[in-house]
Amino acid sequence: MKNDALSTALSQFDDAADRLHLDDDVRGVLRVSKRELSVNFPVNMDDGSIQVFCGYRVQHNIARGPAKGGLRYSPHVSLDEMRALAMWMTWKAAVVKLPFGGAKGGVMVDPRALSAAELEDLTRRYATEISIIIGQSEDIPAPDMGTNPQIMAWIMDTISMHKGHTVTGVVTGKPVAVGGTLGRVEATGRGVLFVIEELCKQESINLEGSTVAIQGFGNVGSVAANLLRRAGARVVAVSDRSGGVYDGGGLDVDSLVEHRKAKPLVECSGVDKITNAEVLGLPVDFLIPAALEGQITSQNAGDVRARFIVEGANGPTTPGADRILEERGVTIVPDILANAGGVIVSYFEWVQDLQFYFWEEDEVNDRLRKVITRAYREVAAAAERDGVTMRQAAMALGVGRVVEATLIRGIYP
Ligand code: NAD
Repeated sequence: MKNDALSTALSQFDDAADRLHLDDDVRGVLRVSKRELSVNFPVNMDDGSIQVFCGYRVQHNIARGPAKGGLRYSPHVSLDEMRALAMWMTWKAAVVKLPFGGAKGGVMVDPRALSAAELEDLTRRYATEISIIIGQSEDIPAPDMGTNPQIMAWIMDTISMHKGHTVTGVVTGKPVAVGGTLGRVEATGRGVLFVIEELCKQESINLEGSTVAIQGFGNVGSVAANLLRRAGARVVAVSDRSGGVYDGGGLDVDSLVEHRKAKPLVECSGVDKITNAEVLGLPVDFLIPAALEGQITSQNAGDVRARFIVEGANGPTTPGADRILEERGVTIVPDILANAGGVIVSYFEWVQDLQFYFWEEDEVNDRLRKVITRAYREVAAAAERDGVTMRQAAMALGVGRVVEATLIRGIYP
């Protein structure tokens, strides 16, 4: 059986292809990845042993520009998961009109089980293995689950050592000291905030005093929590893989961020504990899944009591759940729009690297707001016009733009 994420991605694509009346030839091109690299590579471990790790880099499509997409370190990484995530990256770049194709990579590893030296060695060896297909004009990785700016710096350094000169544009999400951009760490969470602000404007909702529950308290979830709280929303629940914490009056997000640096959320004192399943069922204005794929399924979609789901994670909602939620009147702002802040600011970082000219943080954030708000309005208008969900509208826009590029370029030779 196919990986669930891949089934979801393909089902969403097929639905968009039907709506766009795509012929079988074009569907055939876009349903599969353009390039898939699997690598098995050895790493010297601290105890003197050698361990072999398995990793991937998948480029789904490059019709609109160089491939772009994150790198995931997780024991659950699989080729099918990479295929799904790479495909979503293609549509995401097209929805927000970035000149990129889609890619994704990852290593099957629990990074928390490695020492710092092992993590660096694994990263440098993996970067070397995939260096045959990545590059600043070819395919530009970025952080995703389990990876961070330090890991991006090691990748940049490794590729630069091979070239004999510094190539900052080969990867984004780097520390600012080595060609990173201001605002990248917060970009995905800030994009979620901007999308919610625009949604509030369109739906005449007051963000101040609205309630929020977030599943996942990593890069995306914790930044979104922080920014939403600062914007006046009440973040009543957040969770990580250990479970969740709840406070109906609003959580102190700053102290949770501090706490999480050393310990799992459930070990936090002074707040009620709640399970991940309960987080998804809270009666809030905004539910933000910001952890893994396949969290809201046809089994638990009936329990969702949020008015809006804003997808910080990639692929958190299955097609079965989509149908149930639509019937129940829950509006979903889909991943390829809601979490595009990360790739948008990655694009800004890449542009700055290529020009050796760096922007102020305000400029980064203003441009992010402009790009993601424009995309939100386009998707919302298309959904309204065609009487479809925001996911269907976003998919039709994204897939449509990739089809257009594919057909204009023609099939080589
Ligand atoms: P991260 O590694 O920083 O954090 C992941 C969080 O999810 C952690 O708090 C972890 O404990 C939690 N988690 C893991 N398994 C869980 C489970 N079974 N139940 C509940 N929580 C669980 O990752 P991230 O970068 O924040 O990415 C989160 C999601 O957002 C992923 O789907 C990723 O693809 C997507 N995303 C990330 C970015 C980015 O810029 N980092 C951009 C777009 C989309």
